[in-house]
Amino acid sequence: MKTIGLIGGMSWESSKLYYELINQKVKAELGGFHSCKSILYTVDFDQIHHLQGVGDWATLDKIMVNAAQNLEKAGANIILICANTMHLCSEAITDNVEIPLLHIAEATGQAIVAKGLSKVALLGTKYVMEKDFYKDLLTNKFGIEVLIPTAEERDFIHEIIYGELVQGVLKDDSREGYKKVIQNLAAQGAEGAILGCTEIPLLIKPDDVTIPTFNTTKIHAEQAVAWALAEEMVS
Ligand code: GLU
Repeated sequence: MKTIGLIGGMSWESSKLYYELINQKVKAELGGFHSCKSILYTVDFDQIHHLQGVGDWATLDKIMVNAAQNLEKAGANIILICANTMHLCSEAITDNVEIPLLHIAEATGQAIVAKGLSKVALLGTKYVMEKDFYKDLLTNKFGIEVLIPTAEERDFIHEIIYGELVQGVLKDDSREGYKKVIQNLAAQGAEGAILGCTEIPLLIKPDDVTIPTFNTTKIHAEQAVAWALAEEMVS
């Protein structure tokens, strides 16, 4: 089994999901007392959140590269950024470490194609919904058409992420609001919905909406385990 390096703390509410998911998956695959070989490097989310707010992506690149290099030095064989938004720094990481990075949008694109879908809704922070890095990867690499919520809906989704979900607060009203946004996009032709923020799966479960959801936290964590176990699975 290879060792998974996790850059966590963005927020720790979703990092704990990653930790649980990778261990559950290894146990499901190998049984017995098996657990996932992993190293978790946790950043201080207050600093990250502040730098995102002022748009200082150069400093964010440096923090992410430093975290990835420390994981590499500690013996990790692959890097996971445990958040969708911070994949804005993925290129800086791949330019500065030798080990591979498993991109969350790439893992998600593969899951969407495997389900035979080609037009999906994308919910996440404003950085994910409004900047091109995430949508472009899905469209250019997988031919997936991406629908995003209206400006007003995007404000709502973003505010709930930072005001509630990253702080572990789950409210019924917010769940209802998210459900409505997903159903509006389904009415516009979305065949599925990407929960493109690693805390959204805490709030929205597959049965909450009528179209399939893509839980990026689970997809990312489980693909990393498949990679880490690839040799065991073959032999
Ligand atoms: N975990 C979040 C994401 O998947 C949002 C937190 C952040 O990194 O700003 O995008």
